[in-house]
Amino acid sequence: SSCSPLVLEDESATIRLGSLLAGAFCGLSRKIAESGFNLRLDGTLGAGKTTLTRAMLRALGITGRVKSPTFTLVETYDAPLFTVHHFDFYRFESPEEFDDAGFRDLFGPGKLTVCEWSEKALPFLPAPDLTIFLSLFKDGRKARLEPCGEAGEAAAREVCR
Ligand code: ADP
Ligand code: MG
Repeated sequence: SSCSPLVLEDESATIRLGSLLAGAFCGLSRKIAESGFNLRLDGTLGAGKTTLTRAMLRALGITGRVKSPTFTLVETYDAPLFTVHHFDFYRFESPEEFDDAGFRDLFGPGKLTVCEWSEKALPFLPAPDLTIFLSLFKDGRKARLEPCGEAGEAAAREVCR
């Protein structure tokens, strides 16, 4: 089950969604410690994927600079409860680069992974627990959550209630 699309009327609504996600992930910290959690952010350039991730990291207690991993491919943050790897595969010329870079090792117990442009890393990318589809809607954005499995459902419930 998932919830109906959320309307994010301006940037502050995107930031609020990031905070809600952070709260959900704190509640899932034991699950993340045991098996990790994979979040995919889907949507065109400018849809708000990085804005959402930045807000989530802030709410998780990351106070330093949060830059887009467009050029570095991955940025890593040590949040109090788990490690966050924020990926952006936009610049991949082939999905094999995911394997070549050893990124598979950054997924699993103790890791919250956030992936932008996941389609560029398929089929090597580990399965998502939750996918958020962001799209342009009027002057704002829309977010549709698609959970996969128990932890994803729990996170989506927390955000949509
Ligand atoms: P992406 O990572 O998806 O390419 P960014 O987060 O880098 O997108 O950029 C999104 C842009 O859209 C930013 O300028 C941000 O201020 C703006 N933005 C984010 N959320 C909203 C919203 N709900 N309504 C209007 N503008 C938004
Ligand atoms: Mg981005």
